[in-house]
Amino acid sequence: MEFAAFADRAERLEAESADLATTAGVADLLSAADDLATVTRFLLGRVFPAHDTRTLDVGPASCHEAIARAAGPNVTAEDVETRLADRGEIGAVAAGFDFGGQRGLSAFAGGRKPLTVAELDRSLRELAAVEGAGSESTKVDSLFGLFNRCEPAEAKVLARLVLGEMRIGVGEGTVRDAIAEAFLVADGGAGGGDDSVNDGSDDDSVNDGEKNGSDAVALVERALQVTNDYGHVAVLARRAGEEGLRAEGLEVGRPVQAMLAQAGTASDAVESFGEVAVETKFDGARVQIHYVPGGGCGGAGDDGAHEDAAFGPRLYSRNMDDVTDALPEIVEFVASRVDVPVILDGEIVAVDDEGSPLPFQEVLRRFRRKHDVDRMRETIPCRLHAFDCLYADGDELLDEPLSTRHERLVEVLPDAAADVRTTTDIEAVESIEADALEAGHEGVMLKDPESAYTPGDRGREWLKRKPAVETLDAVVVGAEWGEGRRAELFGTFLLAVRSDETAVATGTGPTGTNGTNVAADGPDGYATIGKVATGLTDEALADLTERLEPHVVSESGAELRLRPEVVIEVGYEEIQTSPSYGSGFALRFPRFVGVREDKSAAEADSVERVARLAESE
Ligand code: AMP
Repeated sequence: MEFAAFADRAERLEAESADLATTAGVADLLSAADDLATVTRFLLGRVFPAHDTRTLDVGPASCHEAIARAAGPNVTAEDVETRLADRGEIGAVAAGFDFGGQRGLSAFAGGRKPLTVAELDRSLRELAAVEGAGSESTKVDSLFGLFNRCEPAEAKVLARLVLGEMRIGVGEGTVRDAIAEAFLVADGGAGGGDDSVNDGSDDDSVNDGEKNGSDAVALVERALQVTNDYGHVAVLARRAGEEGLRAEGLEVGRPVQAMLAQAGTASDAVESFGEVAVETKFDGARVQIHYVPGGGCGGAGDDGAHEDAAFGPRLYSRNMDDVTDALPEIVEFVASRVDVPVILDGEIVAVDDEGSPLPFQEVLRRFRRKHDVDRMRETIPCRLHAFDCLYADGDELLDEPLSTRHERLVEVLPDAAADVRTTTDIEAVESIEADALEAGHEGVMLKDPESAYTPGDRGREWLKRKPAVETLDAVVVGAEWGEGRRAELFGTFLLAVRSDETAVATGTGPTGTNGTNVAADGPDGYATIGKVATGLTDEALADLTERLEPHVVSESGAELRLRPEVVIEVGYEEIQTSPSYGSGFALRFPRFVGVREDKSAAEADSVERVARLAESE
């Protein structure tokens, strides 16, 4: 495809404001493109796929310099910058110059040789490979040569491409949808598959595209997650359709996006997963490890495509940057212990002399370091905590349940595999969290043991437990007798908070049907908020019973009303609005923390504070 044709399409896409029309326009362009992989990447302002660590490494100053030179002897880089300040965007500035005047000076005097997309891609890749002394001026020279051959619309796209910002209103989601529309959906785009074009593959079979839209998009999405290359996925969709996308798998050495977590509570986890896999949340930096041990250990895929591809451990950050060289002790650790090809997911944590975790900022001092690595290795040693295994010894594990992936992890790298404990008990989660915090970690992660690994997805299968919420100091205004062994003791305690005039005046207090304040379900000036029966040892129950008995006002069945005298501290998972209690709020999973001997009832928390806490959650 000629670059001018691409630039023209880009211009039309930029002018389009409707999403559907943009997707259709992109689908149309992809269907027509012979250099499909490159066109797809260019649309997203990329020369290299996201998993590729190469960059053009051309700063704005070099780009401005190249534009100025192509624009003629009277134009300087400062002129370009002045125009940039005025126009606000480099594409518009580049399009505003006439590069034709310089063409006579170029090697193509006597006739402009049109740039093709393929040629531009090659030139930019060559430019990316230039290194060392003088590389900057070499890069400016080659950019000058390219701008020199551009008409305004081409210059606009080239300048934006060089600086990695296409600004034509085509995002990753649009390209994903367009790939599906062009090559998978029946009567989408150009009807799918175009035999007349050559995408660089030697297989001309067309897609089997009878997919409906959302299935097709999901398939494309999935292939993007494992490959991180829009160009590759577009070619695959055109060449091998649904089957090809489905068969696309992991490749050791090609990083995938990390699975992400949402915030959630222990009760959320128990409610949605039943059994919860509880892991320590390490306070460090995410790392993905790819390793194919040498010594004839075989390849990285069932197809044997990588049979001789042994390579040392490579470490990638969450953004898929290669951080291998910065962390030699992790490389050595993995190389000395793992003897099958693997892709592992984990966290790198900086540790002190005793091996206790250091704050997150410390690991960042190691992560991207290029110089002084050996000295820093001594100063801030790092440790790996691996928590997932995406691939082991020829087996792709993304769709296996977490529990199976963890078993494989323990098999391949027992020394660094994070512990997992499975439970259905919220209090057990809390105690694991307390241990993790005590050991200097950040908290806990709560995962569904049945869940697959979904790269790049911030789903509900992994929950990072919210930091402990603030506790409440509540007044005990009622109690119920315990049962069985505890029949002689109070077992459940009715809690209330102060409901003073402020609360009523600001409307935070609940109002009865007749418009009156219904805080009367507690003693005057107090409004109930929940009952607590957990977190209480026999000893605590005996102590509370003794403290509260002198304040009993009335008794009916197992229930007692108490004068508001004793204040206790309670923890909870969440505060919800609720019609069940006089305050208008209810504590979710309240638990007894301790008696506030130092506080009188008048100093207990108010409905107002509860409302504020509820709002801030
Ligand atoms: P956050 O950065 O607060 O969104 O929390 C998610 C991050 O916690 C992940 O990206 C990991 O870097 C990190 N993390 C620490 N321990 C674990 C673990 N056991 N499982 C998953 N992620 C973890």
